[in-house]
Formats: sequence, structure tokens, C-alpha cells
Amino acid sequence: MSTITHLEERIRSVQEQLALAARDAGRDPGSVTLIAVSKTFPREDVDAAYQLGIRHFGENRVQEARAKFESPLPSDATLHLIGHLQSNKAKQVPGLFHTVDSVDRLTIIEALDRALERAGSTLDVLLQVNIAGEAQKAGCAPEEAATLMRAITTSRTLRPRGLMTIAPIDAGSTVLRQVFRGLRELRDELQERFPETDLSELSMGMSNDFAEAIAEGATQVRIGRAIFGDR
Ligand SMILES: *Cc1c(COP(=O)(O)O)cnc(C)c1O
Repeated sequence: MSTITHLEERIRSVQEQLALAARDAGRDPGSVTLIAVSKTFPREDVDAAYQLGIRHFGENRVQEARAKFESPLPSDATLHLIGHLQSNKAKQVPGLFHTVDSVDRLTIIEALDRALERAGSTLDVLLQVNIAGEAQKAGCAPEEAATLMRAITTSRTLRPRGLMTIAPIDAGSTVLRQVFRGLRELRDELQERFPETDLSELSMGMSNDFAEAIAEGATQVRIGRAIFGDR
């Protein structure tokens, strides 16, 4: 990719828009974490973004992340897995990802629990929900969320932190707001059912729709193209 100056401009611009959206919603900009989605981009771009102050990175494929982060990130950085995880890849998660934000079915909860148990560690996770009910999209149905959340909370190694969703790609502002509000309301319901768990994280919003997501309470936005450029 481009020069570091270019990257800096993009990061500053996203940070400004993020702060603006937060203030518009009467929220503290510091309550929204910016995750830079570095999938398909090389490690040099990640390191340049780190130099510019980014501390959260998102990858959607285990194989790619393993190669890219063979030499680990500095210890104050967090690596998120935000893409579909196959059960047979779960054992590669410990020691590579700090959080899996795309947990969406029982088999992956069980596979991750086994892998973490074996590694003797724990893992933060988000439950991914297909709020819009789009066919072929990852994420559990809203009706399944309570059952899966129960499985996560009763596992010995997984710490549920909240929910994640992806909005329909071509939706207008009204539908986007409905989808993001739907995730927040589902989170509020689950928080009541699971009072011992802290479900404060809402990972929602990408390059095209993060302002709408922040207006509806996003605490994490996952931004790829607006930071690193087109893929
Ligand atoms: C690629 C990806 C993003 C970032 O999308 P952009 O449109 O590049 O901002 C966010 N979330 C998930 C799950 C992704 O796979």
C-alpha cells in the first residue's frame, strides 16, 4: 500500500468521524474502540498502523493471521478473530488471538473450550448474531442466542463479553439503524438473563456503516477499507 502519510490521514479521518458520531449520539468517543481490520494487507501495514496509535487489529482467517503474526504484536495490542472459524482450526487460536468475536454455534464453543483447556488459558469471546436474518450469513439466529450464551457462560475457559453482528451490505440508513438497535436490544435481554456476566461489548459497524452503529451503541467498530484502502 501507500505511504505512511496516506495511512496516517486515513486513520485520523476515521478517528474524527468516529468522535463526531459518538458526540452526535451524546456519547464519549473514548467509549468506542477502533479495530483496524488488516485482512489481505501485509504485516508492514499493521506495524505502520501500530506506530500511528492503533492497538486493536482484526483478521478473518486463521491461516493468514498465523503467517502475519508469526512474530507477535507488542503486548499492548489486541488481535481479534472476526471471521468464520472452523472447528478443526480452534486449536490454533490460543496464543494467536486474544478474542474471538465470531462465535456462532455450539460446535465451535465446544472446540474452543477444549483448545483453551488444553492450552491452560482463557479467551474473551463475542456471540455473533445474524440480526437481519440474511441467508448464507454467519451468526446464530436471535432465537438461539440465549442457549449459546448459556453454553459459553458454563464453559470453563470462555469469557463472554457481548455480541457482534454484520449488517446487510446494501441497506439504507433506516434498516441499518434497525439492525444495530436489534443487536443492542438482544444484548439488553441477555444481560438480564445472565446478570453475572458482563455483556457490555457491542461489535457492530464497518467502513460504510459505523456512524449508524455508534448511534445505536456500538462499543467496537471494525474498519478495514477506510483505513487500509480497497481490497
Ligand atoms: C472485512 C470485515 C470488516 C471490515 O470491512 P470494511 O468494509 O473493509 O470496513 C468488518 N467485519 C468483518 C466481520 C469483516 O470480515
